[in-house]
Amino acid sequence: MIIDVQKLNPDGEWFEGDESASILDLESDRFFKVSEPIHYQLFAQPLSDRLVVKGSLRLPLQAQCGRCAEFFSTSVEENSFLRAYEISEATETVDVTPDIREDILVQVPHYPVCSPECRGLCPQCGTNLNLASCACRPSSDLRWSALDNAGLG
Ligand SMILES: [Zn+2]
Ligand SMILES: [Zn+2]
Repeated sequence: MIIDVQKLNPDGEWFEGDESASILDLESDRFFKVSEPIHYQLFAQPLSDRLVVKGSLRLPLQAQCGRCAEFFSTSVEENSFLRAYEISEATETVDVTPDIREDILVQVPHYPVCSPECRGLCPQCGTNLNLASCACRPSSDLRWSALDNAGLG
């Protein structure tokens, strides 16, 4: 997102639009699927020798749950984006893109979980315990029940 400082309203101006998510380099990240752009709503205002830009950013994406390995829809948001760029009479444009990239990447979760109640995968058979139950028991339990049965017989 590039702001044309020469044409900017001296009282400030709202900019709303989309920035391609390709700036994030998340395409090769196997834990995230990004198919939509970053949406920004930013207010830019020149204040003497500075251009102050503030507002919010939002990126919808699919993240892989760290417990059950299913992809789920979520979004990364930054609602207090704030930057000040030095400007002079000669400044023509200010490129906000690198800072949009930085603020979105900071908000991307390191260990996404589809829900706080996610039950994850069975460590023995791999069944998704959110969708089904399985017959697995800790192996020590099996051993004890076998001894119990022998004692009864
Ligand atoms: Zn999950
Ligand atoms: Zn199991």
